[in-house]
Amino acid sequence: MKKLALHWQILIGMFLGLIFGFIMLQLSWGVGFVENWINPVGTIFIKLLKLIAIPLILASLIKGISDLKDISKFRNIGLRTIITYVFTTVIAISIGLMLVNVLQPGNGVSEETIAKLTETYAGDSNVQSKIEEATRQKESGPLQFLVDMVPDNAINAMSDNSLMLQVIVFAIFLGISLLLIGEKRAKPLKDVFDSLNYVVLKMVDLIMLSAPYAVFALLANVVVSSGDPDLLFALLKYAGTVVLGLLLMIVFYLIVVGTYTKKNPFWFLKEISPAQLLAFSTSSSAATLPVTMERVEEHIGVDKEVSSFVLPVGATINMDGTSLYQAVAAVFISQALAFDLTFGDQLTIVLTALLASIGSAAVPGAGMVMLVIVLEAIGFPADRFPIALALIFAVDRPLDMCRTVINVTGDATVSMIVAKSVGKLGKPKVEEWDDHYDEVK
Ligand code: ASP
Repeated sequence: MKKLALHWQILIGMFLGLIFGFIMLQLSWGVGFVENWINPVGTIFIKLLKLIAIPLILASLIKGISDLKDISKFRNIGLRTIITYVFTTVIAISIGLMLVNVLQPGNGVSEETIAKLTETYAGDSNVQSKIEEATRQKESGPLQFLVDMVPDNAINAMSDNSLMLQVIVFAIFLGISLLLIGEKRAKPLKDVFDSLNYVVLKMVDLIMLSAPYAVFALLANVVVSSGDPDLLFALLKYAGTVVLGLLLMIVFYLIVVGTYTKKNPFWFLKEISPAQLLAFSTSSSAATLPVTMERVEEHIGVDKEVSSFVLPVGATINMDGTSLYQAVAAVFISQALAFDLTFGDQLTIVLTALLASIGSAAVPGAGMVMLVIVLEAIGFPADRFPIALALIFAVDRPLDMCRTVINVTGDATVSMIVAKSVGKLGKPKVEEWDDHYDEVK
């Protein structure tokens, strides 16, 4: 009998996880049971994905760049990547702004709801820590992000998942140098990274065997740790606006895939779906990165020369879903708290949300930290930040799950666009996950 395709297995796992979570929520011992006995399965899975992210970036980027033959090709791919990333992010922010201005989700929120949300969440330690984190980031100079990108110790950079950008810079530097020393001298080291790359891809395969069980655990835990359903319900119009915007973004990607790369958009969606489902379950583009790379290279046919650069960079700096959410959230908060926004303020949102999405870490909840910086840029008083975040905190986790799907899909789409533009979009190496598993076994 043919095995069920991976994305179906994951979807079933997610669905059962949701149901299990709801059942456990009804039992007095259910929440503790999920937290202590079920959630660790999901946590281990995320740890394993993160474990291989750094070796994968290193091996694949060094191999990808050193295979380019010519350094001007790297410049070419780099430039196209950055321009396309900025373009898709601006589209995302524009969609968000348009929807929130038309639908005005913040205008119907009653004083009572605002009071209840403020009372429940303004003092919450999670909200406070996001504001503190944003303040820390804001205090550094305008070029600090460039300084932070450059590692002074490669081993240090590799030992900390939050320093992924430093690892990328190191790998690019090493890859370019390998390219410059000539094939004969470079070969031994290139072979090592090539081999490492295969090993890590094999590790992705093995980890993915547990994906259906892991997403079950992750979603059950999301359900049992969700807040008061009444408050979730009160924010339905705001959440609906964000989700509608994210869906429009998917439509935009599919149109681009269909028209520019001439590939069937639904085939693209099917092939990338395991990465999307993991993005949804883990809320982290960084944790999803190994799977995104595997899908894009093996199943979509983007050459490693392109994907090895576009995807890790995208996971850290390109966040279309996050920037769309930040635009909607900033205007929603302003509407609900009767803080007038001028046209200039809306333009400021476009610019700061663009920068904020670059600065947001690819981990759960990072988008909300940078939202504080967007609010600050439009002149929102600092003493009202806790109230502002309290307004949207109740639905942040589900929205984080949704926006991470868009972040990952955006990276995959841009890798296809760039690959197509430089003639590096070929045939997928494997059609089905199971074939691939047999092949690498
Ligand atoms: N969780 C998102 C990501 O990893 C970032 C965010 O919007 O909070 O892509």
